[in-house]
Amino acid sequence: MYAERMGDLPPYLFARIEELKAAQIARGVDVIDFGVGDPDLPTPPHIVDALCRAAKDPRNHHYPSYAGMEQYRAAVSRWYSARFGVKLDPKKEVLALMGSKDGIAHIPEAFINRGDYVLAPSPGYPVYRTSTLFAEGSVHEMPLLPERDFLPDLAAIPGDIVRKARLMFLNYPNNPTSAITLPGFFEEAVDFATDNDLIIVHDNAYSEIAYDGYQAPSFLSTRGAMEVSVEMHSLSKTYNMTGWRIGMACGNAGIIAGLSRVKANVDSGVFDAIQHAAIAALSGPQDCVREACRIYEERRDTLVSGLRSLGYTVNPPKATFYVWMPVEDCMEFATRLLNEAGIVVTPGIGFGNGGDGYVRFALTRSTERIREAIERLRRLSQ
Ligand SMILES: *Cc1c(COP(=O)(O)O)cnc(C)c1O
Repeated sequence: MYAERMGDLPPYLFARIEELKAAQIARGVDVIDFGVGDPDLPTPPHIVDALCRAAKDPRNHHYPSYAGMEQYRAAVSRWYSARFGVKLDPKKEVLALMGSKDGIAHIPEAFINRGDYVLAPSPGYPVYRTSTLFAEGSVHEMPLLPERDFLPDLAAIPGDIVRKARLMFLNYPNNPTSAITLPGFFEEAVDFATDNDLIIVHDNAYSEIAYDGYQAPSFLSTRGAMEVSVEMHSLSKTYNMTGWRIGMACGNAGIIAGLSRVKANVDSGVFDAIQHAAIAALSGPQDCVREACRIYEERRDTLVSGLRSLGYTVNPPKATFYVWMPVEDCMEFATRLLNEAGIVVTPGIGFGNGGDGYVRFALTRSTERIREAIERLRRLSQ
């Protein structure tokens, strides 16, 4: 019944975890879910108010423009300048997205011919791979290893793959490893893209979720990056707006134009009222972002110290709301935690082969629930 490419989609591991979780809940277990990368905190009220006002204005009830409202793209440009020191022409170098997933899912359509390679981190956000397959491209996995601080070894990519590669996905701060980029790596990536004539798509969904004073850079602030790259960004994680579906692609005008042409044939833009709310988010007070990070930081410290007290080896992340922990067998570990302690974690293998041997905890549950989870694990290990 289905097209062949449907067979190339990975077995949806997350669906299986959901089933196991539902079975536990049906048995009356009080499940603590660290699986979902979706903030439990609400969208700040001033943003919700801006949506309500805009939703009541009939001028916002029509088809939006494909590229996004001029005011929205100008707000993105001002935010990029203030936050990263990156200057963007709102007309040509900014495109509204229905979340960064929209941009990631569609960009290979614009640049990948059958048989072209896309270089994607493993572990990585699963859409890098599936979007490539939908465009009939081939994926070359770049392993992210702890001994390289979860940065890919660009020199290790075989020459015949590099010659056929047209696009590379990168993502720092990284989901699921929570790694940050290190000085020199973005420069190396830009040189690699320039030398090998490929596009870099940097996914910066977590730039604002950071701790201990760390400030994540934009890939676009790297010298030469505007020639070879775009950055996918989003309000989802920064302002607890995952359900709203709004983000932005920023960077090289030619690459933006290609993505924009694909999208104009797929969707009809982001609801104007949501764009007004996004302007309120980007242009308004940012203390809500600092407050969210403070909450995640407290949870991080509770989880990491709790896990360490149980003998696990785990490092506190500098950014993202994930804790990436090595375990012997990730499927067995995750299944055992769910069935014996009512705790959901994501097995690393769900993010590609490179994620084998790890589980991911999302810090999207309260400190109290994290303490409860640690107590359950303590009982389990006795
Ligand atoms: C959450 C996430 C996204 C997608 O977020 P949107 O809601 O579509 O903006 C993209 N990349 C990574 C790595 C993510 O974790």
